[in-house]
Amino acid sequence: MIDIDLHLHTYYSDGTESPTELVRRAAAEGLRTIAVTDHDGIDGVPEAAAAARPLGICVIPGLEFSAEWMYRDDSDRPEMHTMHILGYGIDLASGTLQEKMKEIRQKRAIRNEKLYRAFKGKGIEIDRKELESASPGGFVGKRSFATAFLKKGLADNLEEVFSSEALMDDPVIRSIHKEKTSAEEAIRIIHQARGKAFLAHPFQLGYSSLSREPEGFRSRLALVVRQLGILGLDGIECYYPTHDRERTAYLLTLADREELLVSIGSDDHGPCARKIKRIHSFRVEADLLRLAWVKDMTCSDA
Ligand SMILES: [Zn+2]
Ligand SMILES: [Zn+2]
Repeated sequence: MIDIDLHLHTYYSDGTESPTELVRRAAAEGLRTIAVTDHDGIDGVPEAAAAARPLGICVIPGLEFSAEWMYRDDSDRPEMHTMHILGYGIDLASGTLQEKMKEIRQKRAIRNEKLYRAFKGKGIEIDRKELESASPGGFVGKRSFATAFLKKGLADNLEEVFSSEALMDDPVIRSIHKEKTSAEEAIRIIHQARGKAFLAHPFQLGYSSLSREPEGFRSRLALVVRQLGILGLDGIECYYPTHDRERTAYLLTLADREELLVSIGSDDHGPCARKIKRIHSFRVEADLLRLAWVKDMTCSDA
C-alpha cells in the first residue's frame, strides 16, 4: 500500500480538522509521509509537525496556491485559466513567502468585507464574530459563509447553498472573488522558499467539470503544462481520487513527455467535509518508483 499523501487540508484553510487531528487520522490510516497543503496558507504546518513527531510520521511543509495563468494558443487568443499550484518542502521562514502570506491575508479580509456587505444588501445579515470564531484556524472563506447559511436554516446542504441564486450562485456574489496569484509568481515564491511546485488536480484546470471535459480540454491542458514547465514547474499531481485509470495514465504520459515529477494526493478536507476525497477511500495503485523523489524531501521540524 502507498503510504504517501501529499495533499491534505486542515482548518487553517477550508478543512474541518486541526492539524493534530489530521495527523492522527493519517497515522491511523497507515500513512507515513504526508504534506499539509492548506489553501494560500502555511499556519497549520508547525502543529502538524509537532503532532507527527511522536508518531514517526514525516510532515512535508506545503501549501496550495490559488493561481491563474493567461493561456495563449496558436492563434494567440488569450484565455485566463484558474488553477491550484501545490508547493512541497517549502521553508516556512522564507521572507518572500511570509510577505506573500501577509498580502493574501489582507486581500482575503477585503474580499470577506465585500461579501458581508453584499449579503447584507440581499437581506442576509451575518455575524462577523460568529463566522471568525467558527473556524479555530481563523480562516474565513466562502465556505465559512456557506456553513453559516446552513446554521441559519437557509439551505439543507452545502451543494444547495452553492447552487442557490438566493445565496452563493448570485452573479454579484460570484463576482466577489479573491485576487489570485499568477502561476508564474506562485512557482517563483515556492522556488525561493526552496520548495517544489506541482500543478494540483490538472483535470480541474479552469475549474472545468470533473465528469465532462470540454471540447479541446486536453490539448489546452498539455499546452498549459508545457508553458508552466518553462516557468519552472516541477511536477503534476497524477494520482488523485477523481482520476480514473485512463486519466491517470494520460497524466503520467504527459509528465514523462514534459520531464516532470509525479505526485499523489487525496485532497482530504476532513471527515465532515463534503466530496469523495478521503484518505481512507483513496487507495490507488501508484507506481512507487515514480514517487521516489519524495524520499529526498525534508520533513518539517517546525
Ligand atoms: Zn485544489
Ligand atoms: Zn486542495
